[in-house]
Formats: sequence, C-alpha cells, structure tokens
Amino acid sequence: MTAVTTDVLVIGAGVYGLSSAWWMTRLRSGARIMVVDEGEFASGASGRNGAGFRMQWGLDLNILLSKESTAFFENAAELLDYPRGIELKQDGYLVLAHSQNALDRLNASIAIQHRYQVPSELLDADACMKMVPSLGRNRLVGGTYCAKDGSASPFRLLDALLIASRREGVDVRYGTRVERIEKRNGVFIASIKDETIEADRVLLCTDWAAPQLLEPLGVELPVTSLPKEVIVTVPCTPRVKPILISLEHHISVNQLARGSIIFVVSRAREGSTIESTPGFLGWAAPKVVDLLPGVAEVAVLRTWGGVSSLTPDMQPILGETPIERLYVAVSSYRGFMTSPAVGRMMAALVVEGVKDDPVLAQLSPSRFKTGKTIIEPLLNQE
Ligand SMILES: Cc1cc2nc3c(=O)[nH]c(=O)nc-3n(C[C@H](O)[C@H](O)[C@H](O)COP(=O)(O)OP(=O)(O)OC[C@H]3O[C@@H](n4cnc5c(N)ncnc54)[C@H](O)[C@@H]3O)c2cc1C
Repeated sequence: MTAVTTDVLVIGAGVYGLSSAWWMTRLRSGARIMVVDEGEFASGASGRNGAGFRMQWGLDLNILLSKESTAFFENAAELLDYPRGIELKQDGYLVLAHSQNALDRLNASIAIQHRYQVPSELLDADACMKMVPSLGRNRLVGGTYCAKDGSASPFRLLDALLIASRREGVDVRYGTRVERIEKRNGVFIASIKDETIEADRVLLCTDWAAPQLLEPLGVELPVTSLPKEVIVTVPCTPRVKPILISLEHHISVNQLARGSIIFVVSRAREGSTIESTPGFLGWAAPKVVDLLPGVAEVAVLRTWGGVSSLTPDMQPILGETPIERLYVAVSSYRGFMTSPAVGRMMAALVVEGVKDDPVLAQLSPSRFKTGKTIIEPLLNQE
C-alpha cells in the first residue's frame, strides 16, 4: 500500500469542498491541498439542486451568509477567472404567504433584512398576483420580494471552482472514496482503495454522509439524509418570473431561460436514494396546481432526485470536531447559496485557525450540547 502526504485533505468535491479548497489557495499559506471525492464531477447534491439563492431570511446569520455569497456570485466570473460566467440570473425571489402567521413571519423578517441593506419589500396579495399572473388567488395573503435574489448554474460554479483550484495547485481526485480516517501520532490517515493519504488537517465536506466517517472515530454528529425531488416541465411561454417560494406549500419554482419550469417539492421521506419515488408526481401535482393554476396544462418532461443533509435545527454545522484539526462543513440544505461564504470561513479556520468568526461561532458542531435551538422563520421545507 502506497502513501501520499498533504497538509490539508478535503473529503468531498461538492460546492462546499471545492469552495473551501479554492479559498484556501487565496490565503497563500503555501499549504498543500488535496480534495478527493468518491463520485464523478458534480455527482452529489451540488449537481442536482434547484440553483437558487436568496437573501430573504429571518435570522441575522442566514442573511449574512447569503449576502456575502450573493456578492460573490455577482463577481464570480472575475474572481475565479472564468470568462464563461456562471449563468447568473437575478430576476428576484417572491416569497409567498398563504396565512396570517406566515405573513407575520415575513413582516418581522423584512425588518431584520433591512438592517443589512437587503433591498426587500412587502407586497399585498394583489401586487403578488400582478407580478406573477399565473398564481392562484386562493388563501394568498401577501409576500416579500427582493430583486437581487436569483439563481446561477451549479455546474458552471463547480467547473469554475475546480479549474481555479487546480490552477493554484490543488490536487483534486474523483473516483476516490475514503473508507475510514484514523489519527495516529497526531497525523490523520485516510484509507482509500490501495493507498493511504496522510494529512495534518482534514476537512469533511461529505454533507449527509459525514457521520459515516465520524462515527468510527467516536464523534457523533446529528446529521441525517434529506432526499428531495424535482419536477421539470417541457419548455413553455414565460409564466413564472421571479423565482417563487411558498412557505406553506413547501415548493420553490424557477422558470429557466430555455422555458422549462423547475419545481422543487419538499416531501418528508427517509433514505438516501436519488431515484424519484413512485407516486411522487401524483402527490405533488395538486400542490403545484393549487399554488400556480396557470401551469396546470404544462406537460411534465421528467423528474429527478437528489440527497441533501438535515440537522436538528436545519442550520449548517461548521467547525472543528472534538478531534483537534478534524473539521466538518455540513450544509443542512441551502448549501449552494451559502457556499462562497462558508468556503471562505472554513478556509480561514482550517488554514489559519480563525475561530472568532461570529457566524461560525453560532454554527459549531458543539452547539447541540447546549440545548439552544436556532430557529429560522423563513424555511421552505418540511
Ligand atoms: C433537489 C435539491 C434541490 C436543492 N435546491 C437548492 C437551492 O435551490 N439552493 C441551495 O442553496 N441549495 C439547494 N439544495 C441543497 C444543496 O444542493 C446542498 O446543500 C449542497 O449542494 C451541499 O453541498 P456539499 O458540497 O456539502 O455536498 P455534495 O454536493 O453532496 O458533495 C458531497 C460530496 O462528498 C462525496 N463523498 C461522500 N462520502 C465520501 C467518501 N467517503 N469519500 C469521498 N467522497 C465522499 C460525494 O460523492 C459528494 O460529491 C438542493 C438540494 C437538492 C437535493
């Protein structure tokens, strides 16, 4: 068995792993950085998501994560020296309320967003209908809109991060599964098929699969898998602009430039399969049509599935584990829109030991011991 050595080993080449690795190169520490992934390019949730980003949140920390990340998306082509661009589309997000309770949450959140200069505004039901005439009026009480929210191509972002990281000397290897990690004499030893990788520091970016490598080390992380399903229609005339989110339907809707409409519909289920489940379409279609009667006659082209992660408070877990120099970054969904900020923070933590970041401090792996719960009022998932 041969051994390779590196200073930092990042496990997982999704958007969290590649973003962290790229930000590490920006610190110019001279550290050797290696990224390994058991799958192929974009094979995890980072290549199977809805591609949306929004700054409309109700917790300071989520607004901060998204605001920093949005600024990065706006400048990604230049920052990553990627002239093709990441297909940035800032047509805004309309977050809809179908009850007084949801409207109250939107109202309270918008005040916090304005503290951070997020240009969001409150709309009544008529204004929402005017913006998206294909919406159903039934139970709709209002919404909030932010023109700076939008979407980008996850494939382009991953490609840009991969090219930029490799350009800076990061060794990125696909088809390389880490079977287990041990720590011997202060050095981490990651076992892959017929090799070992010795590393001074390890950053786990395997999202829902993080417990698989942590449990044998005696580290418990409260992370489960979150399977999600998506409906894609045939291309049709423009009828959904901006991106829609309904807090009560647990649906997000994004019409792509080529005309297809993408519905991410949350359905509580277990497991880690990327297959679409039998009965999904029949279950989801009435919810979609209740929200958007104007799409009822648009034909469905296909469905796809993907698996993200879920933590008890539905917030990311970011930080050092109880094992010194073993770090973890778990997205708890929404990882696409937070990846630039998370990558920067994790790079500073892993390479420079920066622990006093106020956002990181709230999202540390140890927070669950305190019993303190972080509740984000504008989540759109069951
Ligand atoms: C259907 C769907 C829609 C979504 N929509 C949105 C959205 O609109 N906006 C948003 O912000 N987020 C969205 N998300 C969530 C987002 O996609 C994830 O939070 C994000 O991609 C997580 O990134 P990651 O790098 O942590 O994980 P991943 O992209 O899953 O990467 C983890 C990688 O680790 C690798 N790996 C696992 N175990 C090992 C091992 N033992 N050895 C080596 N490699 C290993 C895997 O192969 C994988 O490539 C959505 C998710 C889904 C499924």
